[in-house]
Amino acid sequence: MVRLGLFCVINDVFANYYDNTPLKQLFEKKSMHIVVTIDTEWDRVSGSAINTNNLEQIPRFQRLCSSYNIKPVYFCSYEAIQNDRFVEYITPFVNRKEVEIGAHLHPWSNPPYHTLDDQSKTFPHQYPIDVFHQKMELLTKTILNRFNRAPISYRAGKFGFVNEHIEVLNKLGYKIDSSITPFVPGPDIDRGVNFEFYKQLAPAVIGDSSFIVEIPITILPTMSQRIFNRIIVDSLRRWFRIYPKTKLTDLNKIINFANGKIPVVVFMMHSNEFDHKYNPYFQDENSVDNMFLLLESFFKKLIELNITSVTFNDLLKTEVYESLLE
Ligand SMILES: [Zn+2]
Repeated sequence: MVRLGLFCVINDVFANYYDNTPLKQLFEKKSMHIVVTIDTEWDRVSGSAINTNNLEQIPRFQRLCSSYNIKPVYFCSYEAIQNDRFVEYITPFVNRKEVEIGAHLHPWSNPPYHTLDDQSKTFPHQYPIDVFHQKMELLTKTILNRFNRAPISYRAGKFGFVNEHIEVLNKLGYKIDSSITPFVPGPDIDRGVNFEFYKQLAPAVIGDSSFIVEIPITILPTMSQRIFNRIIVDSLRRWFRIYPKTKLTDLNKIINFANGKIPVVVFMMHSNEFDHKYNPYFQDENSVDNMFLLLESFFKKLIELNITSVTFNDLLKTEVYESLLE
């Protein structure tokens, strides 16, 4: 088994680029996979109580996915799985394995509640490890109870993921983490950890005494990072997600960069971005409609390029995953 070295939390740094040659060789024979991930969570409205009205728009998104054979992974926070209408709607898709439910920890809304001395802290890694464990245990059990399937994939709220979480995730049966945002510096208000020095876009085994497979959100580095790292990429750091100004060409650039280099790309959005009332980016119906049109063009492009949408559960059964654990 090849493990990514120097996975340390001192200065919140994840370090070391490494070239996974066996994985690359394996992949050269195959077409690329995509995992479409949705952080499925609260209405992001400042100062309000924790509500999940935005989940009423999930059927609109899911219908689009179903018509293009996209199998989304819904990373669900505790508040999302309290929403009966959402659970009832999505359960048949879960049963048919057309979607996957992963876990998404929002520690501020996930029991058991714990008050930190400094209440400005909200990231999962700012909580004591035993509190993190208790919260994750409850979230995992609740997902199991609601969907009759234990989650195997995880994404930290606000990307607050550190090395010591791996052991807890292992104990609770998780196989894959997708919390890392490669090349992105931090911390800031929306991102808990500095991942500037995490330069691995392909899946990698991370951890020390216990381990997990990291399949990070696909993000390309900036021009300065490019020169520093001597890898050929575009001039701006690009997240594989849709913002109001994103065009199909932007998404294509990421695909073109990744295709032939890494076996799987991870696209991400938030559920509240499907409802203009509950997110900071798409603030009128028109911009949400345009985003859905772009999503549709994007899904068509994936078909054209023979890029297959898979869940993390699907990936567990592939040679890509097996080759990492050899
Ligand atoms: Zn979140």
